[in-house]
Amino acid sequence: MVPLRLISFLPALSPSSSYYNCNSSSCRCSRSAMAALPRCAFSVSTAFHGRPVSNHARFAPLWRDLEAFRLQNMQFHPKIRVRRSHRIGTRALASGADIDNGAGAQKEYDYDLFTIGAGSGGVRAARFAANLGARVAICELPFATISSENAGGVGGTCVLRGCVPKKLLVYGSKFAHEFKESRGFGWIYDSKPRHDWSSLISNKNSELQRLVGVYQSILSSAGVNLIEGRGKILDPHTAEVNGKRYTAKHILVSVGGRATVPNVPGKEWVITSDEALDLPSRPGKILIVGGGYIALEFAGIFNGLGSEVHLFVRQKKVLRGFDEEVRSIVADQLALKGIKFHFEESPEAVEKVADGQLLLRTNRGSEVGDCVMFATGRAPNTKNLGLEAVGVKLNDKGAIKVDEFSKTNLDSIWAVGDVTDRLNLTPVALMEGMAFAKTVFGNQSVKPDHASVPSAVFTQPPIGTVGLTEEQAIEKFQDVDVYTSNFRPMKATLSGLPDRAFMKIIVDATSDRILGVHMVGEDAPEILQGFAVAVKAGLTKAHLDSTVGIHPTAAEELAQMVTTSS
Ligand SMILES: Cc1cc2nc3c(=O)[nH]c(=O)nc-3n(C[C@H](O)[C@H](O)[C@H](O)COP(=O)(O)OP(=O)(O)OC[C@H]3O[C@@H](n4cnc5c(N)ncnc54)[C@H](O)[C@@H]3O)c2cc1C
Repeated sequence: MVPLRLISFLPALSPSSSYYNCNSSSCRCSRSAMAALPRCAFSVSTAFHGRPVSNHARFAPLWRDLEAFRLQNMQFHPKIRVRRSHRIGTRALASGADIDNGAGAQKEYDYDLFTIGAGSGGVRAARFAANLGARVAICELPFATISSENAGGVGGTCVLRGCVPKKLLVYGSKFAHEFKESRGFGWIYDSKPRHDWSSLISNKNSELQRLVGVYQSILSSAGVNLIEGRGKILDPHTAEVNGKRYTAKHILVSVGGRATVPNVPGKEWVITSDEALDLPSRPGKILIVGGGYIALEFAGIFNGLGSEVHLFVRQKKVLRGFDEEVRSIVADQLALKGIKFHFEESPEAVEKVADGQLLLRTNRGSEVGDCVMFATGRAPNTKNLGLEAVGVKLNDKGAIKVDEFSKTNLDSIWAVGDVTDRLNLTPVALMEGMAFAKTVFGNQSVKPDHASVPSAVFTQPPIGTVGLTEEQAIEKFQDVDVYTSNFRPMKATLSGLPDRAFMKIIVDATSDRILGVHMVGEDAPEILQGFAVAVKAGLTKAHLDSTVGIHPTAAEELAQMVTTSS
């Protein structure tokens, strides 16, 4: 029985969060020496650790001092402890020239830190640097829903064209499945529910405006000077915005990246994720090119909202870099929901046909639709930034090369977030921004830790993952135990829908340490966040075996994986 004290902290268990585990098939198998597979190119995201540190003299009200990342997800957070720190890096103390925290350069430069790009990484770094006593300016392009060389907006990709609007649309589209599920639970509708795309988009845009305001307010209450315009580096200590020059002891480049479209004829007709989040109307039939997480998430959104969705994947499977079984199970589940997969098909041209429709020509055939979306990759925004002229080294993908502290080959120029193409996720940009601020202005040497960072894919069903895939674990460790469970969730027993849940735990047989946890199924991202903490803290299989489950949930399966060899 779950103690009463604990129950009070649990979210209300609704039928949607309850799972029926009795028909699950759990298995353990020792696996080793499989063919080496490519290493994971995408795997990670960190937890925001919800422990705001403020030593700013003008401490703002509690809600303002919260990280915007947390604010954007929560309207109400009842249990927040604010820890005030009294290190020497405060604004008042740092004005002393003898304090070597990078913030004692007032006489020589206009600013201690000039940040180019006010997205996740830039805002986090600027705010923390200011809180540590630095005089900080940040520049950002004017707001627009579609990003370009000259348009962006405070908040960056995550807030305006990524995580947030995408998740809001995922929420909107999920109702379709829930309506279907509800029939098995006795709900009867006199007419089929209809969806109004323009309401969803307009509500989403209002929320984005609110978040832009939150970000601006966070910067201003930290004392950061926000300058609107395109930033460019002129020399190791000078940046230029709108023709005006600003000198700084340190320059941070946090300009992120933008969607790229391959050079096929007719590419001017296609849209990317930027436009897909702000279409004037929902396409009746959409052709999506790409097999990565953005392609799959948008396939789920349009499928849920009623569009016919065709997904063109260059390879034999979706989600390269993810666990092989996860890749297969997700594709199977999406196909059951009606998404039509075209594997091993690459785009060759896009043409306009009758009624304004578009024809996508591939190496294997063609398909006509109302809209063609390319989710074929993103490139760092390093063009026309003055980087080459000043001597900052880039890699072959155009990303800024940095050391483990996010410093470029020049001592005064640093870079964080997607522009460095390390792990292109918001919480990683936040972590890198904070580590930079602590290192340069907090008299601490803090390296961002890119190991065991969890991530999610908001497909329907979603994926949650942390640590190594089975293929990576086998490559790295000689003796690996793999526990899997593939079962019908309790909700599906009454809904009658073909939904499945899948879980996998990978264990180093020598040390008993958990190397990876992967899940496909309802609430997988929420469940995996907790497991990520445990994996990071050194979770072993013995710990899991001694943990009592919460019943009836899907998550309890992760604590009950039985040890029967297959
Ligand atoms: C569709 C989509 C969905 C995503 N979903 C998720 C998700 O679910 N979870 C997750 O963790 N991550 C997700 N991401 C990735 C996430 O958005 C990025 O990793 C994150 O935003 C990177 O932050 P950043 O600070 O490096 O760059 P950005 O947030 O891109 O910020 C860079 C800023 O710099 C500005 N800028 C560019 N050039 C200049 C210049 N010359 N002068 C001034 N300003 C400039 C830009 O306008 C922009 O505002 C998603 C991305 C996309 C595209």
